[in-house]
Amino acid sequence: MTSQQLEDALLAFVNGTLLAGKTPATATDRLFEDGFIDSLRVLELIAFLEDTTGRKVADRQVRLATFRSVRAIALTFAGDASASASDETDALYRYHTDVSRFASPIVELRRRGELIDPDGTVRITGLAARLFHIFDYVFARWARELGADDVAAPPVIPAATLERAGFVSSFPQLLLRTTGDLAYSPAACYHRYAALAGTTLTNSVVLGVHARCRRVEADPRPLERATEFTMREVVVLGTAQDVERVRHRLLRRVDRFVTALALDGAIEPASDPFFASESAGRALAQRAGALKHELRLSLEDGRRVAVASFNKHHDHFGRAFDIAFAGQPAHSGCVAFGVDRWVLAFLTQHGFDERSWPSIIRDALERQQAHAAS
Ligand code: 5GP
Ligand code: ZN
Repeated sequence: MTSQQLEDALLAFVNGTLLAGKTPATATDRLFEDGFIDSLRVLELIAFLEDTTGRKVADRQVRLATFRSVRAIALTFAGDASASASDETDALYRYHTDVSRFASPIVELRRRGELIDPDGTVRITGLAARLFHIFDYVFARWARELGADDVAAPPVIPAATLERAGFVSSFPQLLLRTTGDLAYSPAACYHRYAALAGTTLTNSVVLGVHARCRRVEADPRPLERATEFTMREVVVLGTAQDVERVRHRLLRRVDRFVTALALDGAIEPASDPFFASESAGRALAQRAGALKHELRLSLEDGRRVAVASFNKHHDHFGRAFDIAFAGQPAHSGCVAFGVDRWVLAFLTQHGFDERSWPSIIRDALERQQAHAAS
C-alpha cells in the first residue's frame, strides 16, 4: 500500500467513524494538538492502522511526531515509507558533545570513599558531595528568584494524602509503605498540595520544597536509580497561564545552565505522569498536550537519565485537594530536579579532573572553599 492510499483510507476512517457528524479533518490537520482526537479515539485509530497495514504498531512508534496528522501517519506506516520517527524528533532542546570520553564514575567514587552504599542506602562525601551542594544551591536559587519559599519536607507522608493525590491508584508499584498510616514520600511536591487542602488562594503562588524521596526499585543503581534520592521541586499554583509562565522560565534557566555546563542530552516530551494510565493512547495524548517534559542527560553507554522533569497537572491537584483560585479549582505544575543524578551525569561526562571542568562549576567550588574557610 502506498502512502497516498493509506492516507486516503485513514482519512476516510477518521472522518467517517471517529469524527462522524463532527467537523471533518484534512490530511494535514493536527489531530491531537487541535483536539480532533482524544486519548480513547487514538486506540481505535491504532487498531485501524494495524488492520489496514497488517502490521503491529510498536509502542515506541506511538509518538506525537508520527501521529501528528493523517499524512504523518501515512508517511510513517505505509509500505513505501522511508521516514521513521527518530527518538529525538519532538525534543525541545538538544545538546551534543563528544560522548567517546564518557565513563561511569561509580568505581572511582567507591575507590575514593566518596560513595558509601553498604545496604542499598547511598551516601556521598568529598568532591561528589560538594558537587551535590552546588547543584542543589543553583536550583534553590532559581526557586527563590521566582518568589518561592523553601520547605524541607519530611521523608514520610500520610498514605491517605497520596491516595487523595491519585498516586496510589496510578503507581501502586512504586509506593513504599512504612509503619502505620505513613508511606515514604515518592516526590516532594505532595506535601505542598496537602498543606493547602481546602483553601482558596488569593494570588498565584510559587513554592519551594525538597525531600529525601523513596520509591520501590527492582533494579537499583547508585545515584541513578536508587530507592532513596533527593528531589528539589518548584511548585506553582494559579491559572493555567501562571503554570505555563513558571514552567517556561525554568525551562529557559535549565537550557542556559546545561549549555554552560557543556552537557550532552535533550529536553524531550515524556509520557509517564502519575495521574494517567500508561496505555499508548494516553501517552500520546499527553505528548500532544505536552504535560511532561524531561531533561535527560547521557551516560557512558548512550543511555540517558532524567535529571529534571517539567510537569503540568491542569487542575488535577486543585480538584483532588480542593484548592481554589479565581473561582475555579487551581491549576498546578511542578519542576522537579533529581539532584543525585546531576552529580552522576556531570562526573560521567566531565570526569574527575577539576581543571577541565566548566568555569561556572570551578568558580562555585572556589566560593564553596572560601566559605568553608571563613
Ligand atoms: P518524576 O516525578 O518525574 O518521576 O521524578 C522527578 C525527578 O526525580 C526525575 O526527573 C529525576 O531527576 C528524579 N528521580 C526520579 N527517580 C529517581 C531515582 O530513582 N534516583 C534518583 N537519583 N533520582 C530520581
Ligand atoms: Zn512534583
